[in-house]
Amino acid sequence: MTIHKLDLLQPTTLEEASALYLEHEGDASFIAGGTALLIYLRERFYQPGYLIDLKTIPGLDYLRHEPGVGLRVGALVTHWTMERSPLVRQHAPVLCETYREIGNVRVRHAATVGGNLAHGDYRLDPPAPLIALRARARLVRQGGEREVPLEDFFLDIYTTALEPGEIVAEVIVPDPPAGTGAVYLKYQSLSAMDWPCLGVAAALTPGADGSVDDLRVVLTSVASHPVLLQGVNEVVRGQRLTDRLISDVMALVDDQIDPTDDIRGSVWYKREMARLFVGRAIRAAQQRAQATARG
Ligand SMILES: Cc1cc2nc3c(=O)[nH]c(=O)nc-3n(C[C@H](O)[C@H](O)[C@H](O)COP(=O)(O)OP(=O)(O)OC[C@H]3O[C@@H](n4cnc5c(N)ncnc54)[C@H](O)[C@@H]3O)c2cc1C
Repeated sequence: MTIHKLDLLQPTTLEEASALYLEHEGDASFIAGGTALLIYLRERFYQPGYLIDLKTIPGLDYLRHEPGVGLRVGALVTHWTMERSPLVRQHAPVLCETYREIGNVRVRHAATVGGNLAHGDYRLDPPAPLIALRARARLVRQGGEREVPLEDFFLDIYTTALEPGEIVAEVIVPDPPAGTGAVYLKYQSLSAMDWPCLGVAAALTPGADGSVDDLRVVLTSVASHPVLLQGVNEVVRGQRLTDRLISDVMALVDDQIDPTDDIRGSVWYKREMARLFVGRAIRAAQQRAQATARG
């Protein structure tokens, strides 16, 4: 039997981590919580010669709120921290709710916010509410950095906008306009700890007269990457939400998703559920916005 040799590299800065990756390009992988990567290594789907441990870089596990900027979440913050943070609960409660529903407590203790995004699995939960809230990722590589809105980050199954050697360093979640209600509905057709059959996030900002000023709806698990539903504001902006208007938004779903048959449901079933959950998510976001307005 061939024993696969694997070197663990332990950088202390993002620059160094990126440089190590580029030095061993094609034979290296970053590792954060290891919850996804170690499964691939164990199953031998993937056999890099070098693992570059991001956890040896100090100062990547911060979580703070800056007025005018929003929540700033270091890439190594765990799902467990996100679900329990009073700061996240205050500024983006939908994120506490979303991270709390991922996998099981052992996974959530190890898995990181940056690793989740970089993983690029088409079924991930957090991208839906993060995109609904207009979050962006700060990406760092040797010699530079850039910010990418998360709605442009996911390109295909396991394919993101990350360039070779680029690291998700931070996620920035801007404060939504006052009165915004945001929700994420995860629908699991198997068990309560399973990946989603599908998920829908909605963020609704009401206008002064109770009409809709802005509505963002994002679906996960129903295409090769998260889907920010197009054409929604053309239907609802400036109007009070009615069942008829919500039905008109639900009618946008079918042409914009591309689900696959799997153990969690057939294509037909996922299309039906996607429409249904979009309607539910919009109503839930409206209720949350109304509750926010009442204080
Ligand atoms: C049993 C189980 C159930 C799960 N259920 C769900 C679920 O229901 N919903 C959901 O959303 N997720 C779910 N997950 C996925 C879980 O959230 C991911 O495993 C996790 O997000 C990956 O994070 P990690 O820190 O462990 O990354 P790792 O496993 O360390 O890395 C994952 C990938 O990202 C790369 N990477 C890691 N960090 C960075 C970074 N900062 N910059 C660039 N590249 C990086 C690695 O090279 C690797 O390719 C589940 C996982 C398990 C094991």
